[in-house]
Amino acid sequence: MRFDIVTIFPGIFESIFSAGIIKKARDKGMIDIKIHDLRDYTTDKHRQVDDRPYGGLEGMVFKPEPVFKAVENIKQSTEKSLVCLLTPQGKLFNSALAEKLASYEQVILICGRYEGVDERVSDYLSDEEISIGDYVLSGGELAAAVVVEAVSRFVPGVVGREESVRHDSFSTGLLDFPQYTRPRDFRGYKVPPVLFSGDHQKIARWRLKKALEKTLAKRPDMLKSRKLSPQEEELLSEIQEERKES
Ligand code: SAM
Repeated sequence: MRFDIVTIFPGIFESIFSAGIIKKARDKGMIDIKIHDLRDYTTDKHRQVDDRPYGGLEGMVFKPEPVFKAVENIKQSTEKSLVCLLTPQGKLFNSALAEKLASYEQVILICGRYEGVDERVSDYLSDEEISIGDYVLSGGELAAAVVVEAVSRFVPGVVGREESVRHDSFSTGLLDFPQYTRPRDFRGYKVPPVLFSGDHQKIARWRLKKALEKTLAKRPDMLKSRKLSPQEEELLSEIQEERKES
């Protein structure tokens, strides 16, 4: 899978994409990340990408020409490429959207700056508008990095068995269960004994119960939209009983 990022600050991405899972995936050719300087698609001698907004307000807005030109140059196919504009006005980015993006061969991410991007980019060029949260960043670069990292985890082979996405929070519609490592006793804080029992069924049941318990406590909204299995229903009643008793 290939990501193309259109930005006026290409240097921002150098270290972010040169470490950890993303670096490994790039080295193995599972993902390809290309960074494009928007200024390379300008035609004037000052390489100007922005201009004052019509209607007379403060600030500057990205002009449509360089953005259209960049995307038209980079885009490889109509069906298998997706053009995304990073904007606080977009669809809230989540695990389901990350998985959808991973089904494309090419994802183009347009990073705005200043007051944003001429509206004709969202009206006539982008297929998807994406926001990484209800707050305003100064530019789309950090948002693009978030998207690349989350989408890459859904590209087959990128995440190895040792860091499986199967039980990651949101993949199952629940938050992930608690994880522990050595030592068994740290300053008197002990690892739950069930994890040393060697009884895999018991451990799986405990993990599912803990995932339900965490989700109920931290993100009850997630449980409302999720269809529970009979075992999950049983565990949830158990949790609710225990809560009443305590
Ligand atoms: N005036 C714009 C508005 O209120 O919608 C905000 C512009 S913001 C200062 C500049 C750029 O940062 C945007 O064009 C966008 O690319 C990026 N950006 C800011 N917040 C973002 C968010 N929550 N998600 C994704 N991109 C964001």
